[in-house]
Amino acid sequence: PEAITVQELAKRMGERGADLVKALFKMGTPVTITETIDQDTAELLIEEFGHRINRVSEADVDIDTSTDVDPADTLKPRPPVVTIMGHVDHGKTSLLDAIRGASVQSGEAGGITQHIGAYQVQLPDKSKVTFLDTPGHEAFSEMRARGANVTDIVILVVAADDGLRPQTIEAINHTKAAGVPMIVAINKVDKPEAKPQKVREELLQHEIIVEDMGGDVQDVEVSATKKTGLDKLLEAIQLQAEILELKANPDRAAEGTVIEAKLDKGRGPLATVLVQRGTLRVGDVFVAGASSGKVRAMINDKGQQIKEAGPSFPVEVLGLSAVPSAGDPFTVVENEARAREVADYRKGVLDKKRTTAAPVSVENMFATHA
Ligand code: GDP
Ligand code: MG
Repeated sequence: PEAITVQELAKRMGERGADLVKALFKMGTPVTITETIDQDTAELLIEEFGHRINRVSEADVDIDTSTDVDPADTLKPRPPVVTIMGHVDHGKTSLLDAIRGASVQSGEAGGITQHIGAYQVQLPDKSKVTFLDTPGHEAFSEMRARGANVTDIVILVVAADDGLRPQTIEAINHTKAAGVPMIVAINKVDKPEAKPQKVREELLQHEIIVEDMGGDVQDVEVSATKKTGLDKLLEAIQLQAEILELKANPDRAAEGTVIEAKLDKGRGPLATVLVQRGTLRVGDVFVAGASSGKVRAMINDKGQQIKEAGPSFPVEVLGLSAVPSAGDPFTVVENEARAREVADYRKGVLDKKRTTAAPVSVENMFATHA
C-alpha cells in the first residue's frame, strides 16, 4: 500500500502544497512536497487546517472540506477557553480557586459545588470566561497531538520568588507549539522575596517580551492567596479574547472535546465535554471517542441540571455506553445506528493501532469511492 504524499494530500484538501509543508515544518515534521507522511501526521494536518476526516466505514473515508467550515454569517461570539499552566507549586490551583471564589456572587446559594474539570466565571460586563482545570502539560500536549485544540488562551503562572523553572519552560514551549496566545501571571508578589522584574527578564531569554518590557505579551502581577491583581488578570483575558474575535456557530449539531471522563458507581460513565460549536441538548445522540450514547442529562459547573449547552460551555454528560478518554472528539450524530457505526469504526482503528507494528495504511485512510 502506498502512503500519501504531501502533494496528493494538498490536492484532496484543496490547499496549497507549500502551505502544508510550512505547517508540517511548524509541527516538527520537515518534509518536502513529494515526500510521504503517515496517517497520524496527515490527520493532524487536516485538523490543523480546519478540515474534517469523514470516517464512517473503512471503505467510506473522505476528507470533507465543504461542510466543515461554518459560513461567516452563522458565527456568533463565544467565551474564551483558558488553561493555566506553570511549574509545580507556583500557584496554579490557588489561582484557579481564587478566580472561582472571586466570581461566586454573594447571593448565589451553595456557590460552586461540582467538580467537573472546568468552570465558567462571569465578568462585570456579563461576558463569560471558561477555565479548564484539567489539562496539565501532559494532557495539553496529548490533546494537541490528537488534533484537539481546546484552549484559546494560556495563562502562564510564574512564582515571583522562584522564577522560571523546568515546567515553566515546558509550558512556554507547548504554548508556542500550539500557537496559542499567552498571558503571564506573576504570582506570589505578596512575598518579601518576590522579584517580579527578574521574572520578566528571564522570560526574555525565551523570546517572551512582556508589555512591561516593551513587548506585546500581557503580564499581570497577582497574589493568589492575598487575592490581589485578579481583576487585572480577568481584564487581560477579556482584552486578549477581544483581539482573537472568538466565534462559533451555535445553531448546528454539537461538536466538542472530552476534557475528562470517569466511571461513577451510581451514575455510570461520565464525561465532561467542552462544546466547541453547535448546541448540545438533552436527548442528542453522540459519539465520544469509541463510545456512543444519548445525552440523558447534563450538569453544569455549578451542579445544576441544564437542558442545553452552547459553544465554549463545559458540561458533564450522562448517558455514555463506556468511559471515553480525555481528548476524544465528541460529535452529535443523527441517530443511534449511525452512532454505533462511527463508534465501531473508531474502535477498530484504535485496536489496529494497538496490535499492528506497521503503521496503518494511509491508503485505507484516504480511499475515496471510485
Ligand atoms: P500548583 O502546584 O501550581 O497548583 O500550586 P498551588 O496552588 O498548590 O500552590 C503551591 C503553594 O504555594 C501553596 O502552599 C500555596 O498556598 C502557595 N501559594 C500559591 N499562591 C500564592 C501566593 O500568591 N502567595 C503566597 N505567599 N503563597 C502562594
Ligand atoms: Mg495544583
